[in-house]
Amino acid sequence: MRILVTGGTGFIGSHTVVELQQAGYNVVIADNLINSNIEVLDGIENITGVRPAFEKVDLTDITATKEIFKKHKDITAIIHFAALKAVGESVGKPLEYYGNNINSIINMLTCMREFDVRNFVFSSSCTVYGQADVLPVTEQTPKKKAESPYGNTKAICEDIMNDFAFAENQFKMIALRYFNPIGAHPSSQIGELPNGTPNNLIPYITQTVAGIRKELSVFGNDYNTPDGTPIRDYIDIVDLAKAHVTAIQRLIDNKNKSNIEYFNIGTGTGVSVLELIETFEKATGRKVPYKITARRAGDIEKIWADTTFANRELGWKAEVPLSESLLNAWKWQEKLGSLKL
Ligand code: UDP
Repeated sequence: MRILVTGGTGFIGSHTVVELQQAGYNVVIADNLINSNIEVLDGIENITGVRPAFEKVDLTDITATKEIFKKHKDITAIIHFAALKAVGESVGKPLEYYGNNINSIINMLTCMREFDVRNFVFSSSCTVYGQADVLPVTEQTPKKKAESPYGNTKAICEDIMNDFAFAENQFKMIALRYFNPIGAHPSSQIGELPNGTPNNLIPYITQTVAGIRKELSVFGNDYNTPDGTPIRDYIDIVDLAKAHVTAIQRLIDNKNKSNIEYFNIGTGTGVSVLELIETFEKATGRKVPYKITARRAGDIEKIWADTTFANRELGWKAEVPLSESLLNAWKWQEKLGSLKL
């Protein structure tokens, strides 16, 4: 039994490979390395003692994708992470985003059918909820129109999975809707490797504290929240990785209640940008230089997860405290040094 992890050298993928291997699964990673680094395999091996099989493949190439399944005949499940993911970039490059993210999922599902692989876990996002009218969001919260081509690819991929699951009900699928993944492996062997100037809050903070960036811009303090800054649900990367192991196990054990299921993967707690900075400073003993600037276009005001369904059905719960996730993110940054990525 082997799990195909697409995008397995990326931030979430690499942490998931570690948890899968530690749970006893064999893994093959498929990644084109456009947004990740082959050295990640060393980090995975250092933590687990096992170097996962690796295939450098562009998953929009159906012929090359089929070769993975011909070579690794023991693949029984797929976790599909591989995708372009920069929200801002997607606005300027919609065809690249739709082309990559939609074609690759269609190719994965096509291979599932051709090679009779029945279990599929997809990395979706809370972006599908947009600014929900009622908080926290449950899996039944209505989806809203996406703010960016990137967000729209997640919504479209969920629709494709849904229609495929309806048409061919021998296939079992789970979409995990992530909230805001943060942190790094506590060993500091793997972590986030942002490409160029980080868009996300935590890598921007750690790079600022490391002296790579001058100061953090806090995008707006005039939101309708207690301190005026936006609220998110920050989920530790190892907790998030473990959710994938429970999802895979659920499918393999046939414990799923329908052949497509959706789960919110968050902590259930909302944290503002200023609260997050304060927690980072306390956890690391480092000051975060910041200034308040204008709002960032497309940002929603507040969102956090109702995790009741995931807690009950997956038997999974976020466990790592925010301060620990932030400390791990900082330790990882220290390991990278002041190297400009
Ligand atoms: N944010 C910020 N400065 C930054 C990056 C992010 O103030 O340099 C804020 C952003 O407005 C949002 C939160 O941090 O409220 C999380 O942003 P991120 O891009 O990490 O994730 P998002 O929830 O937007 O996908």
